[in-house]
Amino acid sequence: MIDLSGKQGLVVGVANKRSISWAIAEAADRAGARLALTYVNERLERNVSKLAATLTQPPLVLECDVTQDQQIEAVAASLEQEFGGLDFLVHGVAFAPREAITQPFLETTRGDFQVALDISAYSFVALARAVAPLMARRGSGSLLTLTYLGSERVFPNYNVMGVAKAALEASVRYLSSELGTQQIRVNAISAGPIKTLAASGISGFSNILSVYRAHAPLRRNIDAGEVADAAMFLLSDAGRAVTGEVLFVDAGYHAMGLGEIRNDSQ
Ligand code: NAD
Repeated sequence: MIDLSGKQGLVVGVANKRSISWAIAEAADRAGARLALTYVNERLERNVSKLAATLTQPPLVLECDVTQDQQIEAVAASLEQEFGGLDFLVHGVAFAPREAITQPFLETTRGDFQVALDISAYSFVALARAVAPLMARRGSGSLLTLTYLGSERVFPNYNVMGVAKAALEASVRYLSSELGTQQIRVNAISAGPIKTLAASGISGFSNILSVYRAHAPLRRNIDAGEVADAAMFLLSDAGRAVTGEVLFVDAGYHAMGLGEIRNDSQ
């Protein structure tokens, strides 16, 4: 069992109880961490506050639309005031305008490209910059983001999100290099498909789940609790020598070239 007692963490990306970030928040709470959660806008505030009330240690609940630099600064200021320092950040934020994941990739507009990259990749850099001084005060830290194999391979309807995830994973490596001297580690978990609010925007998602089930080495899908368990490793001292890494939690799907094939004689 991972122990996060005495650690303080910020979790960005909870929308509802299906959010991967919520599974990570619950696991971190069970492991003894003190948390701050954020919500993107007033519409989601009630959801996040209700979920927050179910945790063992009442978390700070703060507004943070990651496209707004002032809101990111305000979150860092609240953390400084209430927590004094920070041990980990979970970044589970992604967004692409609907047209960008329904139209052919070739038709992606400049505006949609910018929005997807801003919210899904740049926000990790902006949050890292805001919280790094709070981690430096604690002598170390762990930054964790969530990504998908669509960064490296083509998945139908993933389109500009794949480009955003490629930028996000490259950001993990550049940030790990610059923040390493302060003992701040930077990693990503590349999760297999899970039915969440964000996933509901990808058409054919149920088919994607069944392809994974048929071809992943473990012959099954994964759930958010399994991502959370891997996250506990990366956020805790157990992962203290791991940085610049993309850890796949996808029942092994990424390792496959072809799935099962019939022999010629069949
Ligand atoms: P989710 O919809 O629960 O989480 C996405 C979050 O992004 C929401 O909380 C939403 O409020 C937040 N968000 C969007 N725009 C924002 C903004 N401007 N400011 C702040 N927050 C904003 O879905 P999820 O599947 O839990 O997604 C979490 C992360 O996991 C994403 O990065 C997603 O790409 C990644 N991921 C998901 C899957 C999957 O199959 N569900 C697989 C691999 C990776």
